[in-house]
Order: sequence, then C-alpha cells, then structure tokens
Amino acid sequence: MMRQFELVELVKSYDPNADEGLLNRAYVYSMKAHGAQLRASGDPYFSHPIQVAGLLAQMKLDSASIVTGLLHDTIEDTVATLDEIERLFGPEVGRLVDGVTKLSRIELQSDQTKQAENFRKLVLAMSEDIRVLLVKLADRLHNMQTLRFIESEDKRRRIARETMDIYAPLAERIGMHRMKDQLEDLAFAELYPDARASILARLGFLRDRGGDIVPRIIAELGRKLKEGGLEAAISGREKSPYSIWRKMQRKNVSFEQLADVMAFRVMVNDIGACYHALGIIHSSYHVVPGRFKDYISTPKPNNYRSLHTGVLGPERQRIEVQIRTGDMHEVAELGVAAHWIYKQSEARTDGRQYRWLRELLDILDHASGPEEFLEHTKLEMFQDQVFAFTPKGDLIALPRGATPVDFAYAVHSQIGDTTVGAKINGRLLPLRTRLQNGDQVEIVTSKAQTPSPTWERFVVTGKARARIRRFIRTQQRTQYLDLGRSIVQKAFRQDGQDFSERPLEAVLKQFNCATVEDLYVAVGEGIATGREVVNAAFPRDAEDRNKVVPLARARRKGRSAETAVPIRGLIPGMAVHFAGCCHPLPGDRIVGIVTTGKGVTIHTIDCDTLESFAEEPERWLDVAWSSEEADAAHTGRINVTIANEPGNLGSLTTTIGKQGGNISNLKITNRSTDFFEIMVDIQVADVKHLSTIIAALRATPVINSVERARG
Ligand code: MN
Repeated sequence: MMRQFELVELVKSYDPNADEGLLNRAYVYSMKAHGAQLRASGDPYFSHPIQVAGLLAQMKLDSASIVTGLLHDTIEDTVATLDEIERLFGPEVGRLVDGVTKLSRIELQSDQTKQAENFRKLVLAMSEDIRVLLVKLADRLHNMQTLRFIESEDKRRRIARETMDIYAPLAERIGMHRMKDQLEDLAFAELYPDARASILARLGFLRDRGGDIVPRIIAELGRKLKEGGLEAAISGREKSPYSIWRKMQRKNVSFEQLADVMAFRVMVNDIGACYHALGIIHSSYHVVPGRFKDYISTPKPNNYRSLHTGVLGPERQRIEVQIRTGDMHEVAELGVAAHWIYKQSEARTDGRQYRWLRELLDILDHASGPEEFLEHTKLEMFQDQVFAFTPKGDLIALPRGATPVDFAYAVHSQIGDTTVGAKINGRLLPLRTRLQNGDQVEIVTSKAQTPSPTWERFVVTGKARARIRRFIRTQQRTQYLDLGRSIVQKAFRQDGQDFSERPLEAVLKQFNCATVEDLYVAVGEGIATGREVVNAAFPRDAEDRNKVVPLARARRKGRSAETAVPIRGLIPGMAVHFAGCCHPLPGDRIVGIVTTGKGVTIHTIDCDTLESFAEEPERWLDVAWSSEEADAAHTGRINVTIANEPGNLGSLTTTIGKQGGNISNLKITNRSTDFFEIMVDIQVADVKHLSTIIAALRATPVINSVERARG
C-alpha cells in the first residue's frame, strides 16, 4: 500500500504547488472513515482509495482529483456525509466526490449490449466535471486489478462485461489508450480466459522460435534511421492478447494468418522528423498495401496523432510501425489527462476549468460516424440530455426537461397514446413532472385513454408532440366532417333536392377544396355554409328556392347571414335550452339539436356531445344568437389547474372577480399532493368576456393551466 508521504511526494514531483495539508487531511480522513472495513482480498478497505489516488497521481492530475480519489467511497460506504466533506475539503472536492458517488450508484441494469451506448452517454452526462470520470475510471481500474478476489463468478463476469462495454470505450473516447488497454485486458482475462490463454501460449511459442526478435528488429530499425541521419527512440512490443483476439474476430482469420502481432513505435523530435522517418522506413522495406494512415494531418476525434504504416520488416516479418513525437505520445497514452496537465497552468490563472472543459467538448464534438457514440449529441450533451430507465432496465435517452409522456412515446407510440399516469422511482407523480438522470419510470396505461390536448403544453420531444397533434387533428376532422355532411344533406333537403355527392364534386374548386370530404370539413368548421354549397351546386334555382322552403324564408327575416337565424323566433313558442356540457355563450358559433317534445338544445359547434347526433341530421338546426340573448347573463365553464399552496384559491377567485365574472359554482375535480384541478362556472356576458377572464387567469403565476370546458 502506498504510504501517506509517498503519495504526497509523488504529487509534489509534478505539481510543486500542490496543497500538501489538504492531501494529508484527506488521507487521514479516509483511513479513519473506512476504519476496520475489509476488501474481498482481505486487505483493509482503505488500501483501495489509496491505490485509486495513486493511479490518479500517475496521470499527474490536480490535488482536487487526488483528494477525490481518496474520498470517493466515503459517502456510500461509511458514515461520512457530503456536508461534512464540503465543510472539511471545500465545495470543489464536495462536488467531485458527490459526482463520483452518483456515478457509482448507476449499476448496469441490463445485459443488453445495445444499451451500452446509452449507458456510456449516461455516464458522460452525469460526469459534469471530466475529473469525475477520470476518478471513476481509476476506481474501475483498481477494482479490475483486484477482481479475482471476488468469489461470485456471476458478479465477476458482470463487472468485467460492464468494463468492456462501458468503461474501456469511455477511456478510449477521451483518448486514454493506456487505461483502455489495461481495462480491456483485465476484462478479457475474466470473460474469455481460454481464448486469452491460447493466444498467450501462441505468442510464447513464436517468441521461443524467433529468439529475441523484438530487440533485433529494434536494433535494425535504429541502424536504418541513423544511416538516414535521424535520432529516434524505438520501442517494440507484442500486441495485447485482446487486440489480437479482436482482430481475429473482426477479420475472421486464424492466428497463423494474422501476420503482424508486433508493433514498433518510433519517437522523434518534431513533425518534420516523423515524415523523414517514414520515408526511410518505406524506402528500406516493402510496404504492406492499405496499412498507411496519416493521423498527423488528420487527427482522430479524440486528438490522437501519429503516422501508422505496415511493412515487411527486417527478418521478413510483417510489423506495424507507429511514428510520433513525444508530445503526441503523451496525448496518445493519457488522452484528456495529458491535456489536463498541459492546460493546468492556464486553467489556474483564471481559476476555473471551463476553458479546458470546452476543449474536451470540442474534441468530443468532432466525433462522427455510427461507431462514434457521441453522434447527434454534440456539445449540448452535458446539459441537454436526460436518461431514464424502463422497469425492465432499458435506458431511454430524452432531451432535458422531458416528462413521463415523452418517455411513454419514446418507448412506444401505443403506450404514449394510452398513458394515464406515471410512477417515478415507485411514486405516482403528475405527468408533467420533469425526469431526472437515472429515474426509473413506469407508465400506467388504459385502453380507454386517448392523447390529451393539455399534454402538448409540457411535452418536449417532437415525437410526442407530433402524435398528440395528429390525434387531435384527426379527431377534430372527423367531427367537422360528420357535422359538415349533415349540414349539407339538410341543406339539400330544405332545397328539395335529392342528396348526391356528384353536384358537390363540380363545385370543389369554388370552395378551395380537393375532395368532397374536405368540403364537408369546411362546412363543419363554418368556413362555408350549407346554403352556400347548395347555391353553388344548383345556381339557376337560387332565386326560387327560398320561397319553396318556409323554414329558410323565416331565417332570412332576422339576420343577413343566410343560414343563421336568431334562436328565438325560429319556431315561435319552441323551448330553448343551453347545453350543460359546453355552456354556449353569445359569440360562440352554435348548433341546435331538436328533441321532440322538449324543444331545442343549443351546443357550441365544437362540443363533443354533437358527435352522438352525427347519424341524425334531421335533428340539427343552424342557429345564431338574437340580440335579446346577447343581453342576458350566461354561464361559462372553465377547468383550472392550480398549484396546491395556501392562498392560490384566493388568487383564482380574486382574478375572476376583478374581470367582472360572478362565480356560480366551483368544484374540485382532481386533487393531488401538488396540484388541484378545479371546475368553475362563471356568469359572463358573452364569449369575449369569458376569454378575457381566461387570459387574466393565464397571466396569474400560481395558475398552471386554464381551459374552457368543451363537452
Ligand atoms: Mn471505489
């Protein structure tokens, strides 16, 4: 185990200004907090955070990261609290430790590999500071190094699989190749021990047969470069068993066919020397076609730079050669961590990490192609996405601000359409609740449910919005179509014509409609009247028709609009009721429904109830408001959603009163812990009056939504 002074000295070796006192306090605090806890290996638990801190120090990270490494398991595993850590070590360390703790709480809930990409995104989204991710990777590396001590094979395999699918690709993404190689090889050893053993045995056999082939090739390459006037540091290695195995899988070749199992690295002083070295190697040996790659002129998305080539080298062996400068090498091995070291002094002068983080994001931003897990997410990824689990453990990626309705539509359109409620982490919460990273969401559905227009106000995904709008549109269109058809049929009848769609087809153009259905919808919406349609269809009869049809003649008395007549006076003595479902108000477009022996019931033209009369066109009457009606008081009904807080009901009634509305009835229709739904009947003069009240309510902060009741 690394001792306290060894750790401090290691940090001071690359960062002379490191806060020694802070490091010492964290070391002692962690040791005391973990106390007598033991690891599966039998070591004191405290050895783990120490080793993690050591790994971070090897990456030359700043003191805050090292301290976070020391403290990273204290909140989860000991009595330590975030408050205490913030108090003792400051807000920066508190924030980092909190971030690592949250990351550790997400367990891979699903074995499905297709989820890996979303998990990687979730981890990145939760690592608001990249140092959180670096500490998590070091934590994972040490856990993998001690994986063999865990007794349960299932657990070992799950951790190894997670490492392979999530953490090794993340390390690669941020350019930490050394970390990635180590994680992969450790996971490979756990998951495919036989494959790894046979590859190692094969490598051993080749080594025995060829003798010290790697040093011989290094010496030969060095001699050639020196002849060409270049000083270079050359190293050589066998490729890792895992990368050999991957290549065997990917290229579907056997080990024997896999020619280049050795890779050599040539390090020179500057970029010019890189191309110089490349020229010497290419003119000395046969080049293997298709193996040359210039990552200096075109760096990889994670900022990796190098020249790669394959040649039939000394001893007639196929070898891979990478040529790079010392700076490029540091970036290749340490990725963003190298970037961190380089930028540290600069970041320190303005006291914040933003610039450095920005550059990392720029690197991530340039990822492209289906292999890149950052596709489509770009810079906003950290702020603009939220990831939530289904009860089965699938991970759904949504834009930030997404609600359970967005979630339901993302899972399946059918689920979205039939959503009635949502349980978030087991608690039933309103559908407008904003989801948080890592939430588990269970959607409650009912076959009787249909999309609600009110959802449109809080959903954030295009899919949900499109489905809701489409549903409302088709629903309205169906209503308008049925209504329009019966109005037209009635107009035909009143005109003494046999109903047929043929004359309608001839006049579509005049009404700017493509189909007869469109024409019905136009009539249903009130854009055209039934009379206008009939007049257009039978133009020569237009003069006589009104004499023939007494009802139509009667209509002409009151108003100029052809089919609109005052409600009273239509048939003297006929009783008129206002429908309780839609509460029509003067100014509303209205329709009368005749009930034998009871008179006429007036509905607004968009009232849902009218649908039930669609099959009885003979009961429909075109009606309009008379001047007497406009003078009387009418009752309008609204539905209000209001936050459940003291005084809010008072604001509601005060606002209505200020606008001259008189509340005649008030009923709470739905109540939950954080909101009320209330139905309010208000005496108003007309629809304009009600609209003014609704607008005033919408302007009141405590009121979430106001809707006029529609049937
Ligand atoms: Mn740990």
